[in-house]
Amino acid sequence: YCGLEYRSKHRCPGHGLVPARRVSWGGASTGRRFLGCPLDLPQECEWVVWVDPPPPLRVALAFE
Ligand SMILES: [Zn+2]
Repeated sequence: YCGLEYRSKHRCPGHGLVPARRVSWGGASTGRRFLGCPLDLPQECEWVVWVDPPPPLRVALAFE
C-alpha cells in the first residue's frame, strides 16, 4: 500500500497535492492505512485522512 492516491478527492491542505498512501506504525493504530501529505519532512504538512476504521477498543487496550 503505497504511492499516490489519485482517485482521492482529498488534497493536502498545505500544498494542494494528491495525497500519499501511508500505513501507520506504532501503538494501537499499527497497520491502519491513511492518506497524508506526499512530501517528506520538513516540508510535510500535518494532515491525515484515515482509510481504515479505528481499531476496536479491546485491541487498542491490548497494545498498552
Ligand atoms: Zn502537504
